Amino acid sequence: MTLPPLVLPPALNYIAVFLTLDCNLNCSYCINDPDQTGDRRALFHEPRTALPPEDWVRGLARIPFSADLPITLQGGEPMLYWGSKGLGEILAGLPHYFDLLTNLALKPEKFARILNGQQAKLQRDAPYPSIRVSYHPEEMERTWHGRGFEELVDRCAALADFGFRVSPIKAESDVGIYMVAHPDNVVTPRMVAAYQGRVPFETKEFLGVANNQLFGTYLYPFSTDLIARNIYPRTLECECRTSELLLDPLGFVWRCHFYLYEAWKTKRPQEEFAALQRLDYLYQDNIDKLFPDTRLKPVGHILDPNFTMDALREFRPCSYYGRCIGCDTKVKNNRFQSLYDQNIPHTSVEIRNIQMPQELLSHPDFLPHQRAYIKK
Ligand code: SF4
Ligand code: SF4
Repeated sequence: MTLPPLVLPPALNYIAVFLTLDCNLNCSYCINDPDQTGDRRALFHEPRTALPPEDWVRGLARIPFSADLPITLQGGEPMLYWGSKGLGEILAGLPHYFDLLTNLALKPEKFARILNGQQAKLQRDAPYPSIRVSYHPEEMERTWHGRGFEELVDRCAALADFGFRVSPIKAESDVGIYMVAHPDNVVTPRMVAAYQGRVPFETKEFLGVANNQLFGTYLYPFSTDLIARNIYPRTLECECRTSELLLDPLGFVWRCHFYLYEAWKTKRPQEEFAALQRLDYLYQDNIDKLFPDTRLKPVGHILDPNFTMDALREFRPCSYYGRCIGCDTKVKNNRFQSLYDQNIPHTSVEIRNIQMPQELLSHPDFLPHQRAYIKK
């Protein structure tokens, strides 16, 4: 059955498909585990707990093609999706452009084989590489015996043998390397010598708490560090809505990264998915029967013919404020470069009416302009 197309609101800034939360690395700071306990493998190792390729094609075909709004494939490690088979089928079945966030832990030959001749779908004309390879020093130096970065650069360069443009100039390369600027991750002269003249390399802001210090710039007070830095003993109530379409490995649509990751830790999406299949994916019609007794409920399902983007634009109550994931509440550009060009900060979610205890209003980290987000 063909599903009705979605009407994308102009404010939609990002479309993410978490093809799998399984990963071949186990980074201690992995944000898939909001508590960053270094235990993500035990939490998320469930190969093949995912929508089959033909269902992804049916679901994603609802998204209108846009040359400047790609569908970003991520995880976990998205190349492990469906036993490392099936991604080519998804790419071949859709007209869209895709971005890919990968650790390139699979060899380039295998990487290309998985794409099954669909390289062009990852070759959008964009100011930055569509294939964004993450360098994780701790895990990669261990795996590749002290030459992790060199190996990663070699693997990126080898993608040129499989039809990709590889250039040291960001706007001319399909592939680039990114490293989270965690305080433990340092750019060394050895790394500079390895990437210069070959592959673009950049650091990405680390978002979160390390050594009781908050990293990143956030619009809303204490959104990510309220609990992590013991600023207050419990999370707060607020209202929140998103400007992103976030799809988990089974096609559930989530209101933010925290809900998605935290729900997957409980394994409820996997349990409820079987029930949803028996209900012909009619999530909205059966919302009261599914995910009972949990606040971690998806806002929809991509295979539900009644799902519309209106579900994302509604402000909904949330009682997890203070455990938000940094990528949802950090100040950034939208896809039109709003911060750089117009000094308008963008965040993935909009939050209002935070029920902030009086004592936190005088906390030294609370800024006067943040009163705008507090419930009167
Ligand atoms: S490679 Fe990425 S998804 Fe995998 S453990 Fe590291 S941070 Fe997490
Ligand atoms: S307030 Fe934070 S945890 Fe709650 S929905 Fe918004 S981003 Fe997610």
